[in-house]
Amino acid sequence: MVDFAAIRGEFPILDQDIHGHPLVYLDSAATSQKPQCVIDAESEFYRTINAGVHRGAHELAARSTMAFEDARAKVARLVGANAEEGEEEIVVTAGATAGLNLLATAFGNASLGRGGAAAQRFALKQGDEIVVSKAEHHSVLLPFQELAARTGATLKWLELTEDGRVRTDDLDEIITERTKVVAVTHVGNVTGAITDIAPIIRRTHEVGGVFVLDACQSVPHLKVDFHALDVDFAAWSAHKMYGPTGVGFLYGKREMLEALPPASFGGSMVELAWMDQPAQYMLPPARFEAGTQPVAQVVAAGVAAEWMMSIGMDQLEAHERKLTGELLKMGDIEGIRILGPRENADRIGTVAFDINGVHPHDVGQFIDAQGIAIRVGHHCAQPVHRHFGLYASNRASCGVYNNVEDIHALLDALGKVRAFFGA
Ligand code: PMP
Repeated sequence: MVDFAAIRGEFPILDQDIHGHPLVYLDSAATSQKPQCVIDAESEFYRTINAGVHRGAHELAARSTMAFEDARAKVARLVGANAEEGEEEIVVTAGATAGLNLLATAFGNASLGRGGAAAQRFALKQGDEIVVSKAEHHSVLLPFQELAARTGATLKWLELTEDGRVRTDDLDEIITERTKVVAVTHVGNVTGAITDIAPIIRRTHEVGGVFVLDACQSVPHLKVDFHALDVDFAAWSAHKMYGPTGVGFLYGKREMLEALPPASFGGSMVELAWMDQPAQYMLPPARFEAGTQPVAQVVAAGVAAEWMMSIGMDQLEAHERKLTGELLKMGDIEGIRILGPRENADRIGTVAFDINGVHPHDVGQFIDAQGIAIRVGHHCAQPVHRHFGLYASNRASCGVYNNVEDIHALLDALGKVRAFFGA
């Protein structure tokens, strides 16, 4: 049995009052809080082994490199990726947004003929198609929209069901022989809906396309295995999985990473550089990690991955599912409309909602005055809000440190909103 009360105790930030009330943090979809072991890992790194990685012959550089690569291996283990030297499938990025832009830029470079024959599987030209979904965060939509604009390809999208799930009943019409890239979210950051990605991946591969997964909202909450899912690439951020800000990861099947041309250029990614000849790039992952890496943050992200695995992703998921069940009870409050599936099994504990007659910013302020942190706005996903006929919404989202009392505090507060604003 996992002691979730003890786990909550590992998060020092939660032990404080906000506006005279104990803090109830329900904004983990924006960023999660950090356990003490992650906070300590970063400062311990600076206290004891701080040095550049993969360079220098001194002992600290060797230790720092070891810690960095060890963290990569831990993160790989969390998501079912290879970590053996020469087989690495995890690239360090500055976050999900950076990872998705890396891909879009690299595909654009392939479209210009960079990367040679092997990279042609990523190349796009006029008449080719890129497919996303209407549930995408702007960090999927915009890089691939730009890629389409740069290459002359057409951007298409999968529509949503009434309750905001990515539709998979018309895949054969949307994903066609012309489709080169399909980029879809694993879990919607507004709807909390888990996308039925298996048929999308199957169809993408059937037409010879590359499948990119936005795993930002799945890796922190669900047990994921990228090999079993057969995704080609997946991007996510450390800061939503109890790790530090400023760092994220890009998974790529080894053969995909080996075929992909680099997207940014600089130190630590070339074998040979000349004035008058093209450079010879290193093998992945180094080829995609130009410049000095956020080593302390990566090391702490590795600790976060290990910490999640020590709880057990099944246990973590079951705990959050219980909280989600409570959270969904907000749908019984008069005037509240949930923007996403009502069935617990189809979603995670990220629940966006609209309160009839009350602007989300007013809701957020009223809730905040009671020490409860939720997110309001469009959550960087405007098309999905348009789908629901809204510009903005409120969003409560759970982490492993939340308890049922947190959810009840929110439900109590939500029950008072409409009366307070005279709606
Ligand atoms: N995709 C989804 C589904 C997200 O929730 C987020 C973060 N809100 C992102 C992408 C972008 O992540 P980041 O801002 O950490 O790069």
